[in-house]
Amino acid sequence: EMASRVKSTLRQDDRLARIGNDKFAVLLGPHESGIDDDIHEVTERVLEAIRRPVIQADITIAVTVSIGIARFPEDGGDASELLSHAMNATERAKKTGGNTFCRFDALTAHSDNGRRDLLKDLRLAIEHQELVLYFQPQVSLFSGAIIGLEALIRWQHPQRGMVMPGEFIPMADESNLIVSIGEWVLRESCRQMRAWLDADLPPVKLAINLSARHFLIPGLHITIADALAEHGIEPRFLEIEITEGAMMQDVAGAIRSMAQLKEVGVRISLDDFGTGYSSLAYLSRFPIDVVKIDQSFVRDITNNPANAAIAQATIAMSHKLGKTVLAEGVETEEQMQYLRRNECDEMRGYFFSKPLSAEAITDLLRAGQAMKINGQNGSDTRSTVLFVDDEANIRTSLKRTLRREGYAILTAGSATEGFSLLAKNTVHVVVSDQ
Ligand code: C2E
Ligand code: MG
Ligand code: MG
Repeated sequence: EMASRVKSTLRQDDRLARIGNDKFAVLLGPHESGIDDDIHEVTERVLEAIRRPVIQADITIAVTVSIGIARFPEDGGDASELLSHAMNATERAKKTGGNTFCRFDALTAHSDNGRRDLLKDLRLAIEHQELVLYFQPQVSLFSGAIIGLEALIRWQHPQRGMVMPGEFIPMADESNLIVSIGEWVLRESCRQMRAWLDADLPPVKLAINLSARHFLIPGLHITIADALAEHGIEPRFLEIEITEGAMMQDVAGAIRSMAQLKEVGVRISLDDFGTGYSSLAYLSRFPIDVVKIDQSFVRDITNNPANAAIAQATIAMSHKLGKTVLAEGVETEEQMQYLRRNECDEMRGYFFSKPLSAEAITDLLRAGQAMKINGQNGSDTRSTVLFVDDEANIRTSLKRTLRREGYAILTAGSATEGFSLLAKNTVHVVVSDQ
């Protein structure tokens, strides 16, 4: 039935084939009229023909179709490429809900052509001044004050708008282009620090991210020392971030590079800690100043005991080795308080601020803005008890019973709610309905 319906929409020299259980392929021959109009017309007719319900002996069957289009020669040079690109477009049509059609898109499909174009644009991005730095504040968990900034790159693409680093850094990382980008970030960071100093803002530490490829280039320390000297920036105000994964790619090379950087006097931090496979022994061998706990451990730190344990162990071990610990991606007050009570030194995350433009950071620094840290219960020195029970009347009656005993009483209707209260408060006794 479906085959005959589709066939009825086609012209004499178009071809129809059944290529799978529920898959048909249509090959449209050359036509005099505009090819795009042609394709449109045919797809509309096919959609329409299939949408009509099939009625067989009192049973109505309604089906729809997803259509993917690939054009010769733009979308594929031979039959198998055309077919596979048409399938790719079909998948996309299905994903958008079906009963529709999609044309093959080289970029979405990550075809070599699309990547080549983006890479070509990226090569020119530095020259065309399309790269910009955003800055995200790092704050002290002790005082709440801003103690540093991290520079995060963005690409203001003339057609695509703001492109995030996740979309182009991995691509640049496959070639030496990442080195040009890294050098641009270094120069721009030093220039910006100078501008802030010249505007009489208090000196603030700035961290930049370097890729493994760049980190291992001989002479990196000279490039860095030169950039600092050119803008008159003291080395201790620059921090170089290297990810744990990158460090492990070439341990001997990383140790050599770090030793040279320490001679220049810059700080070094280990990014995304916990996601790589570094042996703990390395942590003591590398001259690292800051260990950054990856966001994946912070995200559910208040209710995932395993991640909480890893974070606590990282903090304890780093402190024993004389290193500072910064938690990444802190989004809630619960996470902030939990980290604080577990003696994490610093944090960065949306809870205090998203990455901001240089102008917005200037305002923030000028205002001397700090993160508010509310001590739990103010000066309340009473013993705190937490009741966890899903039945509201039980919570109420327990509360009533103990009210006159001088306890500070917290109640939670679920485990999640309880964990969140535990993160924010010091609780002495938990009474829970298992
Ligand atoms: P990263 O260094 O670990 O940076 C943290 C990323 O997490 C940033 O994303 C930041 O915007 C985001 N983030 C910060 N706080 C929060 C939060 O509370 N919640 C959530 N959900 N996310 C948060 P971004 O800017 O997209 O950067 C992604 C990664 O790209 C960076 O990870 C870094 O590895 C890389 N990158 C950024 N700039 C550069 C650069 O200049 N050079 C190199 N080589 N890599 C860079
Ligand atoms: Mg980083
Ligand atoms: Mg990170």
